[in-house]
Amino acid sequence: MERRTVQFSRSAVNLFFHVLTRCNLHCRHCYINPAQHGRQTLAIDTIRRWLALFARRGKAANVIFLGGEPTLHPDLAAAIRSARNLGYASVTVDTNGYLFHDILRRVDPAEVDYFSFSLDGPDPAVNDPIRGAGSFLRCTEGLKAARARGFHTSLIYTVSADNLQDLRRMPPLLAQLGVDRFFIQVIGVRGKSAERVGRNERLQVPKDEWLALVPAVAEAVAARGIAVTWPKVFLDAGEAFACAGKVAENFFVFPNGRVYRCPLCEDFPLHALEIRDHRLAPTPPINEDNLFSLEIAEGCVMNRLIQPDNLAYDAAGRPLHRIACCMLKEEMRPGSV
Ligand code: SF4
Ligand code: SF4
Repeated sequence: MERRTVQFSRSAVNLFFHVLTRCNLHCRHCYINPAQHGRQTLAIDTIRRWLALFARRGKAANVIFLGGEPTLHPDLAAAIRSARNLGYASVTVDTNGYLFHDILRRVDPAEVDYFSFSLDGPDPAVNDPIRGAGSFLRCTEGLKAARARGFHTSLIYTVSADNLQDLRRMPPLLAQLGVDRFFIQVIGVRGKSAERVGRNERLQVPKDEWLALVPAVAEAVAARGIAVTWPKVFLDAGEAFACAGKVAENFFVFPNGRVYRCPLCEDFPLHALEIRDHRLAPTPPINEDNLFSLEIAEGCVMNRLIQPDNLAYDAAGRPLHRIACCMLKEEMRPGSV
């Protein structure tokens, strides 16, 4: 097994497409902010036109369908088919596992690369207080149903102070469920999490706690033959900092037409682009593009502005470490040398 840092892809477009913001769950850390992202459910014709905007940028394009809960969209199957017809290189559906509208029977494993399931604990006692009563069972049953229908599956675990220690119990569950990939995410101070931090609740994980646990769990997952990806978060001394907003083509699209380049900006009207009359246009300054060019000793400028609790300083006020771009990942693949 080899552990490696995955640099941002410059050769592909990644479209994170929120086709609605409605959801059947009310997760404690939900990052959806309807005041900023809208409450619309996009019509299928609009979804097709917006997919086309990002499919034709001269690079391979990947789409991740998101919500809210994207399977609540009655035309998700048609949207997936349109993405395929437009030449998207990969199609992923991120779901809470409830799999509405019989989606597993309305699409074919040849049309969807992965169904990605969100689960935030190794059992209901940890997961359900975060994601809602009964959600552990529904998610794991949905995942098993997807596997039984021949789909590839991923599982996404969002780490916060609420469930960091429970991460160590995930490897056997992942093996038992038979997932192909495991994504560890770190809590972002956005949406409901921003409200909780405003109430002085501790959500972020300090550097020593993160480094003591997450890489070791990742290794245990990979040892079971499952590919695992986790965010770098804390840069090592001397490691280069780069902002994905400057060098990669990631687009986070919301139903009200806002298009962000950086997910940390999503609670604010800082989007660099917007879709108006089905055309993609830059927004006037000041927007996130202006922030990407600021160079600060702490690394990521948006982290410094909105979630500084993961920073630490010496007596002279110098940062003890820098924070990586939230899009910078480490990965371990079984069998890699
Ligand atoms: S499943 Fe996703 S969209 Fe729904 S409440 Fe939870 S985090 Fe928010
Ligand atoms: S997380 Fe920070 S470094 Fe990454 S795109 Fe956003 S502003 Fe840039």
